[in-house]
Parts: sequence; C-alpha cells; structure tokens
Amino acid sequence: MPATAAPAVSAVPNALGRFGEFGGRFVPETLMFALDELDREFRTAWHDPAFTGEFHRILNEYVGRPSRLYFAERLTREAGGARIFLKREDLNHTGAHKINNALGQAMLTKRMGKKRVIAETGAGMHGVATATAAALFGLECRVYMGVEDIRRQELNVFRMKAMGTEVFPVESGSKTLKDATNEAMREWMSTVEGTHYIIGSVVGPHPFPLMVREFQSVIGIETKRQCLEQTGQLPAAVVACVGGGSNAAGIFHPFVDDSEVSLIGVEAGGHSPQAGQHASTLSFGAPGVLHGSYSYVLQDDDGQTSDVHSVSAGLDYPGVGPEHSYWKDTGRVRYTSVSDKEALDAFHLCGRLEGILPALETAHAVVETMREAARRGPDEVVVLCFSGRGDKDCAEVARVTKK
Ligand SMILES: *Cc1c(COP(=O)(O)O)cnc(C)c1O
Repeated sequence: MPATAAPAVSAVPNALGRFGEFGGRFVPETLMFALDELDREFRTAWHDPAFTGEFHRILNEYVGRPSRLYFAERLTREAGGARIFLKREDLNHTGAHKINNALGQAMLTKRMGKKRVIAETGAGMHGVATATAAALFGLECRVYMGVEDIRRQELNVFRMKAMGTEVFPVESGSKTLKDATNEAMREWMSTVEGTHYIIGSVVGPHPFPLMVREFQSVIGIETKRQCLEQTGQLPAAVVACVGGGSNAAGIFHPFVDDSEVSLIGVEAGGHSPQAGQHASTLSFGAPGVLHGSYSYVLQDDDGQTSDVHSVSAGLDYPGVGPEHSYWKDTGRVRYTSVSDKEALDAFHLCGRLEGILPALETAHAVVETMREAARRGPDEVVVLCFSGRGDKDCAEVARVTKK
C-alpha cells in the first residue's frame, strides 16, 4: 500500500474491539467465554494459510468469485459525468454479498467443533446465505425472522426451508430485523456451547464487527485490483448502501488509507426524516448500546430504541456497525440517505437502462451513485457496490407501486 499523509484510519479495532470510542462488548457474562473463544479462533484461522486458502477456494469455486467490475455505460450516459462501474455482488451464488461472510463463519463453526448455527435475517438474504453454508458444511440451522419480513420475503423463506433450515417466526416488537436479532441473541445465551451465532453484518459484540469486515473485504480488495487493471486509476468515489454496514465495510476498508478516494455510505431515508419513518441511523441517531455494541443508534429521548421504516427489509434496522460510527466521526466516510420513493425509481431505472434489477437495498446506492457521477468529470470513475439482485423484491415493488 502506498504511503499517504492520512492517519491510518484502518488501524482499528484495538484488542478490545474498540473503533475509537465505538464497538466493544456489552453482553451478559455467559457470552463472554464464547466471544473470547471466537476471537481467538478467528485470529488464529485468519493467519492460517490452510484456512484462508480453503476460504478462497470456496469463494472461487462455489460462490463464483471474483465478481465482475462492470462498466455501466447507459447509467453513465444518463448521469452525464464520471464513468460508473458496478461491483457485481448480485452475481454471487445466492444473489448478494452475504454469502462471503456466511461461508467464513460456517468454516469457523466447524473449526470450533460446533454442529449447529443460528442466524437473524431481515430481507432473507443473510438467512438464505446461512442456510446455504449450513447445507454445504452439514450443520443444523435455525434462522430467526420477523413475521412482517416473512410476509415481504416469501421467496427467501421458501428457499431457506428447501435447503433444510428451520425458519423461526418472531412476533415481538415491530416484527422485523431488530426483533429477529433480539431473539437470536436470547437463544444463543442458552445454546452457546454447541451453537455458533452467524451474525449477518458488521454489528454485535467484538469480534463480530472485525470478523465480518474481514470476510467481506474480499469485495474491496478485488475492486481495487480490477479498477486499476481496467481503468488504470483508483476510483474517485466508492458508494455503498448501509444497513448494518457489511457490504459497505467490505468495499470501503481496503480504500480507507487512500485519502484521494471518497467513500460514501447511503442509509434508508424511508418516507421522511421524521422519527419512526426512516432508518438513517448515522444521520439522525445518537451513540448508545444495541445488540452488544456501542455505536450510533436511533433512539428516543429516554434512550428507547426507535421504530424504523424502510421499503427495503435489509436496511430496516435502528443500529449500525461501530466502524461506521468511527468513520463518520473521523470524517473518513460521508453518510447520506435516500428515500423509499427515490430507491423505487432507481430500481426501475437500473432495470430499464442496464437490464439489471437491483435489490431495493442496492437501489438506494444507485441513486447516490448517479448524483456523485453527475458532480464529476468523464475522466473519473465512480464504483457502486451492487450488493444484491432484485428478484426477492419484485413482489413487494409490485405491491407498493400499485398503491
Ligand atoms: C443485507 C443486505 C444489505 C444490507 O446489509 P449490510 O450489512 O449493510 O450490507 C444490503 N444489500 C443487500 C442486497 C442485502 O442483502
């Protein structure tokens, strides 16, 4: 990596899992032992060429990596500025970036001698990725999912069940991702001895934010190499949507010390900036503890976690990974939000112009990519992390656009 004048913003977390003041571990004593074990196992595995070699072999042969960095000529013309490239995580087996992390954690589960995994899911993509990894490695699997999301994501529920996973309906709270995560954490406290909890994003207690970022960094490492090979330059900007923040962390991290590369995270603006009508945690939240980690959280004046809304189930979450809070406060990444309506328009625009239907999560990043490209000249490159494909969202898009 070339030496730059910028501070090494990449040199986090510390041994306690702190990204500046963010991150750490806020969990009951019963989980501390398992998290220590996981931290040790991950660090050893990540330095073991046998483990990383096998991980990359599976990513290549099973997932289909490296994913393409594709020049989107018609979106580029429409935006009228910088050249737009799509990092095609939608072409991975199972249709999103989630599989990179699920396979890594399933491999660790085996290494720890555990035979069962659990997971939470919102849009169902992490549930499907976990069900897939569990099938591949012969692990028993249960996925917690809010009943509101079960309704919105019927196809993914079927896919999980077809691969032998039990989908456990969550009736509490707003019946979405936050509630599914609560239930999964609750179960884990009583089953931790034989069960690994495969968290789907860069959230939760240490070492999850670090470990998930490392498994997803393959996205940014490939992007950097491909961009240099295909265009002879680094991107001027990299844009990604942020739910918990794993696709963004994966593509951003390898660029964090390249101060000339702008990094832009896009949160769900929902219906409006009014409390309860969006999921823009970094724009409207305040530091607090959620799901075992200290980070920005959407909360009311009494510190109660707020209800959130997004048309996209995968962004419908009141928390965000601690590294994003750190990047926000250090100014390394700019965070913005895009409304439901804008994302739905981008879903159709991308389909009509490129013949590629984005996931609704990804559609949020499409909007900001078009804006960013329009601000720049044709000699510059803007990369969009195309986190997933839109098949899962077709029924929901049809339903909300009919209204
Ligand atoms: C889950 C998901 C997201 C949001 O999760 P992050 O951890 O923020 O990446 C974004 N896009 C797709 C396609 C997803 O499935």
